[in-house]
Amino acid sequence: MSATLLSGKPLAAVIQLRARDEAMKLENEGARPVLAVVVATDDESTHWYVRSIERAADRAGIGCRIVDLGPGATEHVLASVLKDLSADPSVNGIILQTPLPAGVGTDALVSHIAPEKDIDGANPLSLGRLAVGQPAFAPATARAVVEILDHYDIPVAGRNVVVIGRSAVVGKPLSLLLLERDAAITVCHSKSGPLERYTETADVVVVAAGRTGLLTGAHVSSRSIVIDVGTNVLADGSLVGDVDEASVLGVAAALTPVPGGVGTVTTALLLLHTAEAAREQSRSLIPGPVG
Ligand code: NAP
Repeated sequence: MSATLLSGKPLAAVIQLRARDEAMKLENEGARPVLAVVVATDDESTHWYVRSIERAADRAGIGCRIVDLGPGATEHVLASVLKDLSADPSVNGIILQTPLPAGVGTDALVSHIAPEKDIDGANPLSLGRLAVGQPAFAPATARAVVEILDHYDIPVAGRNVVVIGRSAVVGKPLSLLLLERDAAITVCHSKSGPLERYTETADVVVVAAGRTGLLTGAHVSSRSIVIDVGTNVLADGSLVGDVDEASVLGVAAALTPVPGGVGTVTTALLLLHTAEAAREQSRSLIPGPVG
């Protein structure tokens, strides 16, 4: 048996069009959405990724301001740039791109991104709001997984969903989004023991660990839907996920490819979030009734 490949491309195209429609409306109102991406590394794969966001933003009619501070940027400089962008009315969305320079921590810095511009859900306030069901931007990758499940009509309510990885950017927010949809969630991590103990009976398995070949055909069953969030760059420059594609394809019901799966949808959602943020910000500029 061979699993169905759940490509992210058709969904990404739909989301990109939604972002473009909203961006065009805003532009007609004189408020073209602008995304700022703060970078402080000379890592070539990061710059490649940032350029891909820039190209996608251009296609969607969204302005993209790359703020490249170089690998020597200090925490102080990064913090003040994030505060300035948060206060800048011409910027609607902000991403702080990792990796950061050695010794600079992400946690304190992301708190400087204004929640209304936090289009990748990095500020702990956004995660807190998600946890209690208040409006907030979810990290685009976490939302991408949910959107892919919706797009392919894969229900999660009352089903057994295993999320491998518990980071604040993927595993935790994704678990919250799935819980909101009434899934029965198990979150695995590096200390949860043999994965097959959890994955063998799962309806849906989401892998977000950053470990090549972590999930194999031996971990899944013929009814498993497998979503591969992992992105690992091999020595030859090729991109692979966390799933051993050849063996999982032979056993599972469906699998998202890498590349062309979750990552593709994530980029489109960053743009949709920017357009949505710009729309909200334009509303808050309209003065309310007096008295
Ligand atoms: P991270 O912060 O390094 O977290 C990795 C998580 O995986 C941790 O919770 C870790 O457990 C767990 N883990 C590591 N080894 C494991 C193992 N052998 N068994 C079970 N769990 C294990 O990574 P992240 O930022 O969440 O990213 C995860 C992956 O997703 C990476 O490959 C990243 O590049 C990719 N990613 C992709 C996108 C996209 O758009 N496609 C976006 C963001 C991230 P502990 O907590 O116990 O250490």
